[in-house]
Parts: sequence; C-alpha cells; structure tokens
Amino acid sequence: MVKELKKRNYVPATDTIAIDLGLNPLIATNNGDLLGRQFFDFLKKMDEKITKRMAQVQRNGGLPSRDNRYREYVRRLREFLKNEINRVLNRLINLYKPMKLVVERLDFRSPELSKRMNRLIQNFGKRYVKEKLERLHQLYGIEIVEVNPAYSSQECSSCGYVDRENRKSTQEFECKCCGNKMNAQVNSAKNLLERSSLREFHPHLPKKQVLKVLIQRHLERLKGCKSAPLDILKGNPYYREFLENILNPRQGLTLS
Ligand SMILES: [Zn+2]
Repeated sequence: MVKELKKRNYVPATDTIAIDLGLNPLIATNNGDLLGRQFFDFLKKMDEKITKRMAQVQRNGGLPSRDNRYREYVRRLREFLKNEINRVLNRLINLYKPMKLVVERLDFRSPELSKRMNRLIQNFGKRYVKEKLERLHQLYGIEIVEVNPAYSSQECSSCGYVDRENRKSTQEFECKCCGNKMNAQVNSAKNLLERSSLREFHPHLPKKQVLKVLIQRHLERLKGCKSAPLDILKGNPYYREFLENILNPRQGLTLS
C-alpha cells in the first residue's frame, strides 16, 4: 500500500519520545506537549452533522451509504483525519527529531461521540496513523516501538499506583495515592515511555498480566516505606489478592 520512499537526510536530536494518541488532544508527549487540540471540536461538529443527516435519510426510508450528502460528510471527515494526523506528527518530528518513537496500540474512542462516529474514526484514524508512522520510519529511519497500553491511563506515572479512580475524566489525572495531578494523556505517555525500556511489557501481554506486573512493581517500591498508604490499597479491588500475600509476615514484606 505504502510506496517505497527514499530515505532522507535526518539527524536525530532526541533519543526517545513517547506519545499517547487520543482525541483531545490528538497527541500528548511524555514531556507534556499537547498537540492537535482543535481536533476534538471538529469531530464533534462533524458528528452532529452526520448523525442529523443519517436520521433524515432513514426517516425517508433511504440508506445513508447511498445518500450523497452523507457520503460527502464522511469523505470530509476522512480527509480531516488524514491531514490532522500528518500535520501533528510532522510537527512532533520537527520539534524533537527523535531516534525512537514509542506508541501504544491505538484506541480512538470517546463517550462523547456517537457510536457511528466512534467507529468511523476508529477505523480510519488507526489506518492513517499506521501509514504515517510507516512513512516516518522509511523516510527518516525513526524506530517505532509499540508498547502495551493496558492500564496506562490508570497508572500514576509518578508513584506507580494503579486505580480506576485515578482517571478523573477523559482529560484529568489525579493520583489517589500520591496526589500527582496532570493531563491524563501526558500521564499515559510517561507510562508508555517507562514501559518501552522494560522487558515485562511486550505488546501482546494479556491485560491481566500487565496489571499483575504493575501492582508488583508498585508494591516493590513501597517496600520498607514507613507510611505506606495501606488504607487506600485495601480499598482497591486491584490490590486485594496481592495484599493477602504481603500482609502475611512470612513473606517478609510488610507494609505497615
Ligand atoms: Zn501517584
């Protein structure tokens, strides 16, 4: 699908950059950059148009796929996705000139968009990002590293605590354990960067295994900590089975 491209002269200026791809913004980096912040507003507007048109067509007994106006909207949406993804990734490359780019397996979805819109951007968005990353690899020799994203949105990039409640909203992250507060996608990008250098996190590790590794790593960090937040951990279903072992003094790891 992608044509063979001639490699360009490229002098890397940064070793590794990790990015979290989402909808609002399109890209967050582990350094805290938020790129493509108008992305979501456009999608929302387009979603309204598409949903409205679909309802109209269906009310008249027609099929959206045969309706010219509906098809025109979808075409515009695809064009926008492609252009924005290219533009924002180009900006990122110009900004950092990285040797390596760490990315997650992609998931574009938002509860604030309709089912159909989510499906459209999920399909096209993924494909355009893949194609663009492939081109960046061919043109500049940038290594693309895929890491396992499971729980990366619930894990605190500062202390390692994993909790569903850490994710306050789609944009806000606030750690229930250490109080670390930041943009949710930036937090994820930091986690992805960390995971890229750890052997335990290969991209296809089952979610359950990922959680196990995360919790063991977090508990390991708390070893010997005099003021371990035991109450918080006890109230978190993720930690239950692990705490049973820890609270047994024979294991030699006691938190309190
Ligand atoms: Zn924390």
